[in-house]
Order: sequence, then C-alpha cells, then structure tokens
Amino acid sequence: MERSTIVRVHDGLHARPATRFVKLAKSFESNIELVKADKSVSAKSSVKLMLLGVKENDEITVRATGADAIEAIEALIGYLENPGSGLHADESAEAATSVAITVTDARVSTAGVDAAGKLKGVAASEGVAMGPAFGFFPAEIKHENRLLNAEEVPAERARLNRALATVQQRMDKSLEEESLAESDRGIIAALKDIACDDELTGAINALVEGGIDSVSAVIGATSRIAADFASMDDPYLNARADDVNAVGRQICLALLGQDDANLDAIPAGAILIAEDIGAWDLARAPLKRIAGVICGHGGATSHVAIIARAHGIPAVLGLGGSVRELQHVKYVAVDGHSGDVFPEPDEATTDRFHEQIGKAETDRQALKVYKDVVPKRADGMVIEIAANLGSLEEIEAAQDAGAMGVGLFRTELLFMRHIHLPSEDLQVETYATLSKAFAPYPVIIRTLDIGGDKPISGIDFPAEENPFLGWRGIRMCLDRPDVFKPQLRALLRAAIHGNIKVMLPMVSDLAEVRAARLLIAECTEELEREGTPYANFDLGVMVETPAAVMIAPLLAREVAFFSIGTNDLTQYIMAADRLNPAVAKLNDVTHPAVMAAIELTAKAGVEAGIMVGMCGEAAGRPDLIPAFVRMGITELSMSPSSIQRAKKCVVELETAAQGR
Ligand code: PEP
Ligand code: MG
Repeated sequence: MERSTIVRVHDGLHARPATRFVKLAKSFESNIELVKADKSVSAKSSVKLMLLGVKENDEITVRATGADAIEAIEALIGYLENPGSGLHADESAEAATSVAITVTDARVSTAGVDAAGKLKGVAASEGVAMGPAFGFFPAEIKHENRLLNAEEVPAERARLNRALATVQQRMDKSLEEESLAESDRGIIAALKDIACDDELTGAINALVEGGIDSVSAVIGATSRIAADFASMDDPYLNARADDVNAVGRQICLALLGQDDANLDAIPAGAILIAEDIGAWDLARAPLKRIAGVICGHGGATSHVAIIARAHGIPAVLGLGGSVRELQHVKYVAVDGHSGDVFPEPDEATTDRFHEQIGKAETDRQALKVYKDVVPKRADGMVIEIAANLGSLEEIEAAQDAGAMGVGLFRTELLFMRHIHLPSEDLQVETYATLSKAFAPYPVIIRTLDIGGDKPISGIDFPAEENPFLGWRGIRMCLDRPDVFKPQLRALLRAAIHGNIKVMLPMVSDLAEVRAARLLIAECTEELEREGTPYANFDLGVMVETPAAVMIAPLLAREVAFFSIGTNDLTQYIMAADRLNPAVAKLNDVTHPAVMAAIELTAKAGVEAGIMVGMCGEAAGRPDLIPAFVRMGITELSMSPSSIQRAKKCVVELETAAQGR
C-alpha cells in the first residue's frame, strides 16, 4: 500500500530530519520505500534517503509492504507533513556533518633547513615558544589491492565486521563524552549514521564477497557513494561526499590498525605542526593547550594567523613542503617574531628560548597595569583600543585584556560553523550577546565577508581563477539578498541595545554603499510593518581596496565611519597575495605605498569629520601606532593579546608630548 504527500520538513530530508525519518522507518517491520518522481529508495537507509534529495514542498510517496504497513505509512506521512519544532534550521545545523573549510591555499614556499639546522617561514603570530612537537599529519593509507580466493573470503568478512564495529564503537564513545560541544556531537552522530548505513556496509560487503580485499572494497564503495553525493546540485549534499570519504578513511585505518591524526589529543604546552590546517579546525581545537603553531601553508594575515594571534599563540606559517621534515621531530622551538623554527634545538638555542619566554612573561605581567587605562592623544581625544573578534568564545579574552569595545566582529565563523545559513534569530542572539558584553563601548559588526577561498554551505560559489578579486564580501551579499537581508534584519533588531555599528567589507564603489542602504531601508520597513522592535545603526565601510582609498572623500560623505583593513589593503596595493608565502616580503604594510594609502584615507575621514579606525593587523603594531595616531586615526582594533601593549604605546605618546 502507499500514500502520497507534500513534504513540509524545513530544508528537506537532510541531516537530523533524515536520521529521524530513518529511525522511525526502522521501528516498523515492513519493507518501506520512499518514492520521488521515478526514483524509489529504502526508507531505512539515511545515505539513500539523502541521495534522493528530498526538499521541502516535494511530492513524495511512501510505499510499504508488511504486517505493520498501515501504521508505518501513517507515522511516516505524519512526520513528513508535520515534523514539529525539531527541524528548525539551527537544530539541523547541530546535527549536520562537517564541511571541509580551508582558508589557506595550496602554494608552498621554497623554505628549507639552513646550515644552522633551522627552518624559516613567515612570522605570523609573535612570541616565542618551545615544547614537545605534536604533528597533525593525516595518516596515509598504505595499501596494495589484493584479490581473495574463495577460502579467504570468510576471514576477510570477519575482519571487515570487526573494523566496522570498532569505528562504530569509537563514534559511540565520543558521543558519550560529556565535554563534547553540541555542534561536534551533531557532526559525529551524522558520521555514525553513515558508518552504520546499510547502503554503505552492504556495498562494501558485496565487494568482499566478490573477492576484493576489504580495504580496496571500502575505498571502492565509499568513493562511488561520495561521487553520487558530489554530483548532486545541492551544496549541502555535495558536502556529504567529504563525510562519506571521512568515514571510509576511518574504516580503512581500523582495518590496517593505524591511528589517525587527532587534535583533541594534543598535550598541554605542545607545538602544533601541520602541513595545512583549516581556520575552523584550529578555532575549535583545545587552544589553551597549544603553545605554538607551525604550518606549511598560510601567511601573516591568513585566518589561521589571526586565530593564533587572538589567543596569543606564537606561529610560523608558510614553511612549505619542508614542514614534512618536522614530522618525526620530538621537540621544537618556534620564534613568531623572526619566523625561525628550530627542530631539536641545541643547548644554546634552548637557553636563549628559555630566557626569551621568561622575559615575555615578565613583560606580559607588567602590561597588566594598562588594562583599565583609557589612552588619550595629546589633545585629550580618546584613542579607543578595541578588539577584533571572530566568535563569542573570544569575548572573555578581550574583556580580560581591557578592550574598549569591538572594532571588528568577523561574522564568517558564525556562518562557517553551521551547515545551513544561521537563522536571523540566531544572529540576533549572537550580536546582542556581543553588544551587552561590551556596552557602553561600541561594537562594530562586519557584514559577511566570504568568498570562494573560504566557502560556506548554503551559498554556491562559482570556481574562480582569482577568488581574492572575485565574488566576495559586499559583492556577493548584494547579489544574494536572501543571505544579506536576514543579517541586516538581525543587526537592526540587535541594535536596540544601543552600541552596535555595522560596516561593509570589500567596498570599491559608492553604488555598493547605496545599494546596501536601500536593502537596510527595505528591512526597516518590513520590521516596522511586522511590529518587530529594531533601531537604526551607524553604517561604515572598511577601506581595504585601492578603489576605496581613491574615492575616500566621496565615501566619507555617505558613511558614519571608516575602518581601514590593512590586511587586504596591503595585498591589493602591493598586488601580493596575502596567503602566498612566496610574496610574503612584498606583503608589507610599512611599504610607503601602503602607508600613503592609509594616510590618504585618514585625511579624507578627518576632513569629513567622521571617525577613522583601523582593524587590520597593523593596528596593534607599536612601531606604527604613533604614525597612525598622528594621521588622525582614533580607533585601533586588534587581537586581544595586543591590547595592553597598544594602550601603553598611546599613553607613552601622550607623556612624551606633555614633556615637550
Ligand atoms: C583586513 O582586511 O584588514 C581585515 C581586517 O579583514 P580580514 O582580515 O578579515 O580580511
Ligand atoms: Mg579584509
């Protein structure tokens, strides 16, 4: 028997809804199929169900044969028509599986070990550290294909079943851990669903029965299913290909008795060494235990560097292929000022590092007296020393450092963190939390600044030759009001707390500011009509393209403030990719061309009487702060770890001026 209906499950049968549907289907004995157009699949396999690509408002037929067919159809149709409150976008995000996000690119420098046994990379987060090396190198699956004869098959089947059980048990064990964050729990639960799925295990078993060794069978079956996901037109389902491959990899490692790299196991005080690490992976790693970071990819303003700086972790990036030479090193010293890395340091180097680490700690303690200082310019004008934040988890570090508000809240992690675009309500909650944490100081929230180099699910980015010159930031947002408007509405709603300001990234044309204003006006009208409380906010722009610098006097007439983004401004002025270690030397904010661009921007802002701030990494540099203050910049926003030193620097400027 069968019945048809229209699916009312928000976002379709993805992630948790698919899991719930399958669980419900499995509670009946009947054979149950789900039919969409001319395709039908077993309702008891989440992999098959996801591959069917059922979306909200699709017409679906549930077909069942067996003793409890009537009850099964009734229950499943009931679920499809009224999934209840459990299928809210954010909740399904919780249950979603990971999306591979990498912000660094694949180019490598030619760095290598020099005569003194040291490696040189890009100094990406200052400070020095020394400790046991912790390699984060995904294990290579070492395997040769083998054809089994008939007698070998039963033993191979048993070996496969043991490996499958091991992987499932490991996942169960992780799920039992109380300390597991909800979002990670969702990721592991969804991976476990795949590992237990009959479609996958059945396909692997069939290959083994046909005489293929189990590792080859796992690789073959998972790559076929992953390819099916990869060919679907839904970005969420595309990303599931990575999950299937990840599960396949775990089964292979279990079959071969190999362990995989795991950041959770990093011991306290260790130096993390990786060929590449995604910003998102690093953001959720146990950062308190990481004393230093060494990475083959990335540059001084890559987002891995920014996270390391936010947490005061010394980092050397862009070592290129030579980072592999560190794979078996036991102890390592890293100098985030010079970009030097010393594998197995000798006694003299160890002594020097001990001394430097001790001095850094003394300096850090001495700087604490500046925590509550409100630094002023010689004429009494307050210079706001604010924090750059990427997530709510960083609020505490910023408050402890004495941040006078937030000069840049990067909203990208909020979007990267979720499998679906974060809902308007979740955004309101996030922005309001920030606003309350720093009131009465201002909190400047940057609208989504995402592009092809750091894609997120929910937005289909085209492949681009030059993502840094492509469809990113305000350009993408204006083309996607379905993404941009919920963010603007959320900002308007959170602005009732009074201290929220908003800035637009990657602006290169006045028309972009005007178009954004029109959308903001549309949002206020909607909120007004709905009777939803909201407040207007100051709108500013990031000045980070050469075009914005050249039209700064015009922009200044239309916005409430400027925030100079020196990271991008440097790469665009110097035409030197900020992630490419091979051009790291050119990526220099102190180059006269970049300093002139900063000065032009500050002059335009000061003449128009608007606030000029800076939120690029240069804002925290004591050697540049005096010049920036002289130019008329009155807000400097930086990693929390640089705040107290920056306050000291401004105070000393004032003292020096008084002494004259
Ligand atoms: C900048 O470009 O200077 C900036 C602050 O933004 P991001 O580093 O996030 O691109
Ligand atoms: Mg930028």
